[in-house]
Amino acid sequence: MSANRRLLDRSLAAVWHPCTQMQHHLAADGLPLIPVKSGEGAWLTDFDGHRYLDGVSSWWVNLFGHRNPRINAALKDQLETLEHVILAGFTHEPVVQLSERLSALTGSALGHAFYASDGASATEIALKMSHHYWRNTGRPEKTDFLCLAGSYHGETVGALAVTDVALFKDAYAPLIRPAAVLPSPDARLAKDGETAADVARRAAAALEAHLEAHHGHIAALIVEPLIQCATGMAMHDPLYLSLARQACDRYGVHLICDEIAVGFGRTGTFFAHEQATVDGKTLRPDFLCLSKGITGGYLPLSTVLTTDTIYEAFLDDAVTRGFLHSHSYTGNALACRAALATLDIFEQDEVIVANRQLSERLHDGLAQIRSHGRVENYRRRGMILAFDIKGAPAAFSRRFYQAGLERELLLRPIGNTVYLMPPYILSEAECRHLCQRTLETLEAVLR
Ligand SMILES: *Cc1c(COP(=O)(O)O)cnc(C)c1O
Repeated sequence: MSANRRLLDRSLAAVWHPCTQMQHHLAADGLPLIPVKSGEGAWLTDFDGHRYLDGVSSWWVNLFGHRNPRINAALKDQLETLEHVILAGFTHEPVVQLSERLSALTGSALGHAFYASDGASATEIALKMSHHYWRNTGRPEKTDFLCLAGSYHGETVGALAVTDVALFKDAYAPLIRPAAVLPSPDARLAKDGETAADVARRAAAALEAHLEAHHGHIAALIVEPLIQCATGMAMHDPLYLSLARQACDRYGVHLICDEIAVGFGRTGTFFAHEQATVDGKTLRPDFLCLSKGITGGYLPLSTVLTTDTIYEAFLDDAVTRGFLHSHSYTGNALACRAALATLDIFEQDEVIVANRQLSERLHDGLAQIRSHGRVENYRRRGMILAFDIKGAPAAFSRRFYQAGLERELLLRPIGNTVYLMPPYILSEAECRHLCQRTLETLEAVLR
C-alpha cells in the first residue's frame, strides 16, 4: 500500500474534515483526499510525487508561497526568544510592533488592535465592541446589526448571525439571532443599461431607507469591501462603500469592514476599503477585521482594529465598562512574528506594484476562457479573477475540483463560479500552468 493511501485511510478514520460531506470521501469512487507531504512556493506535493498548483492560496491564506524562506527564518528566530506569553498584564515586542505597523497602514485612523486567532472570532469581537461602545455611551438599545445579501463573516453561532449563505446557516437557524439582510451591490445584478455604480446606488438607497426607519436600534453595518468572496466572488463598485460610510455617519451607526479575505493586497491595494473615498479622503471604517493572509498563511491570527474614539469609551474604573473578551492565545508571539515577516515582504518586494503585473498576466492567460461560449460574468479585481459557467452540469464544483487535481491544479469552484486566488509569487511559467490547466479542466468537465 502506498504512503499516500495509508495516510489517507488514517485521515478518513480519525479526522473530521471541514466544509465536507465525509460520505463523498468514503464512497469507493469518491472524492479524492490528498495527503500532502510538503509544500514549496505555489506547489503542494503528495507522497506519490504528484504535485498541485495551489490556485486558492490554501483557502485564501497563503500569500508568499509555502515554506517561504523569509517567514521561516523569522519564526526560527522567534522560537529562540519567546513562543507565547499571556497578554493580560504582559506584553512583548512582536505584538507591539505589529499593532503599530497595522495602525500606520490605516493612516493612523485605527489606533488600537485587539487580537484573536480566527476570522469568525474577529467578527464576533467587532460586533461585541460595537454594541458595548453604544452601551458605554448611553445607547444600550443599539443591539441590532445589518449585513448584506450573500455576506460571509464566519461560521460560529455569533458570526452566522451576520452571514447570509443558506448552506452554512440554514441547519443552525434555530440557534441564531439573525441580523437584517440588505440588498447586495453585486455588480452582476445590473439591469439592462445599468452600470456597477448604478447597482451600488440602488443598494445604498435600500440601506439608507432601512437606517432611516431603524437606526435607533442598530449598532453596526458589516460589509466585505469590494468582493463578497464566499458567496462566489461577487464584486461591487467602491461607490457603495462611500455611500454606506456616509449613511452610517448620518444615522450614528458603526461601519465594520471585514477584510479577512480581501485585506493584505488581495484587491490591488493593501486594504480593499482604501479604494473608496469620502469627500476626497480615503474612507476608513470604525472597525477593521483582518485574518487569513495576515501571517502569510503560517499561523492562526486575527485582529480587530478600531479608532481612538471607540477605544476611549471603554476607559473607566469599572471592569464591566472595559471590553470583555478573553482568548487564551491572544497576541501569540509566533503568529505576530509571522505577520511582521509578511509585512516585511510587502515592503521589501513592493508587492502591491508587482501584483498589478501579475494580475495582468493572469488576465491575458485567461483570454480563451473569457471568450468561451459557456463563460459569463468574467470579473477581476487585483489578485482575484472569477467567472461563472452558464448551464453548469450537476455537481459542477466537485467535478471541476476533481478534474483539476488530475491536471496538477488546486481550484475549488463555489457553485458555478470558478475563481483564481493564487499566492503572489507565481512565475510566468506558473501563471501559464494555472491558466492553461484551468481551461483544460473546464473543457473536460463540460465535455
Ligand atoms: C474566511 C472568512 C471569515 C472567517 O474566517 P475564519 O478564520 O475561517 O473563521 C470571515 N469573513 C470573511 C470575509 C472570510 O473570508
